[in-house]
Amino acid sequence: MQLDIDLAGRRVVVIGSEGAARRVMARYRAAGADVDRRDCSDACTSAVLDGAALVVVVGGTVSEMVERTASKAVGGTSAGPDKVREEAAVAGLRARCRRTGTLVVREPAAQGPGSVTLVGGGPGSLGLLTLAAAAALREADVVLYDRLAPTDALAGLAPAAELVDVGKLPGHHRVPQSGINDLLVQHALAGRHVVRLKGGDPFVFGRGSEEFAACLEAQVPCRVVPGVSSAISVPAAAGIPVTHRGTSHLFTVVSGHAPLTDEEHLHLAGLGGTIVVLMGVSTLPQLVAGLGRAGMRADMPVAVVERGYSASQRTTAGTLGTIVTAAGVARCKSPAVLVIGEVVRVGLDLQGSAAHLAHLTASFAS
Ligand code: SAH
Repeated sequence: MQLDIDLAGRRVVVIGSEGAARRVMARYRAAGADVDRRDCSDACTSAVLDGAALVVVVGGTVSEMVERTASKAVGGTSAGPDKVREEAAVAGLRARCRRTGTLVVREPAAQGPGSVTLVGGGPGSLGLLTLAAAAALREADVVLYDRLAPTDALAGLAPAAELVDVGKLPGHHRVPQSGINDLLVQHALAGRHVVRLKGGDPFVFGRGSEEFAACLEAQVPCRVVPGVSSAISVPAAAGIPVTHRGTSHLFTVVSGHAPLTDEEHLHLAGLGGTIVVLMGVSTLPQLVAGLGRAGMRADMPVAVVERGYSASQRTTAGTLGTIVTAAGVARCKSPAVLVIGEVVRVGLDLQGSAAHLAHLTASFAS
């Protein structure tokens, strides 16, 4: 059953230990409720329920308290009278709430140790966030995100979470990778469910594997939710397919973060398929020169797709011989995906007239 109750400004009493109730409290606070947490014994012996619109009993609260008490008893494994007392207390609570017309609901407790989920947020469009990514965000206690993640709707997607921008520090510097790894591990060891939200896919030039390794080393449970990578989706947003039957049956995704070697240029040019370059705007001149030296034709189509899925998405199209000048004139900037290959022409043809292509804004996800 799903209840839709306006809890803004209403008093909600959450019964449960601090650890177990943490996420539940955050969720009700996010709904605007005035949340008051009480231990089970507290709730049963005092008038804390007065004026409450809702009482939330966190699942496992009773057994948790019973176990704690039982473990203190010398040689005792059964909770005995303690268990009876706790159960009676909860029954009393229910009866009292029934008399005053206060609603009582049960919620599952935050369980066990914390965890880290590396989540691919896709190329920036909310429509390209996966259902698994949305589910992980919904359950998150902390979200560490950076620049290219879909950040606009984050507060709504992760209502219970503390949101931390690790793309910049107060001094506008990025948190170094080792610092991000430490943050992930520390939050998880403190029992929190951490989402590390990244643009695109976390394992495509996202340093996700380093974060995964840091979690493993610290024995923190870690899982990966793949995302829609910009390597395929940003060309698609501009109407460019990375493969096309009879034109290109392979595509290679390359980082342009640092210039490639001549050996790499030779390999790439020799493959004869589509070349997709991420982080390649600043090294475009070296790449173009290198591919030229490796024998690629000067009339090979090239496209620079900037800011895919944003309102200012733009495609600058040219050839290996003209793209450096065209990108310079258009002042192309990062983030952008470069596409080199005949598929660019296919994309342009699909889109209609060539005149239409200089400022494409087609977005197939929104
Ligand atoms: N893990 C990411 C890539 C991270 S590297 C993924 O799978 O997409 C960052 C680079 O990705 C940027 O420099 C740019 O080349 C590309 N990129 C990511 N999002 C983009 C977008 N919305 N528009 C254009 N390029 C994008």
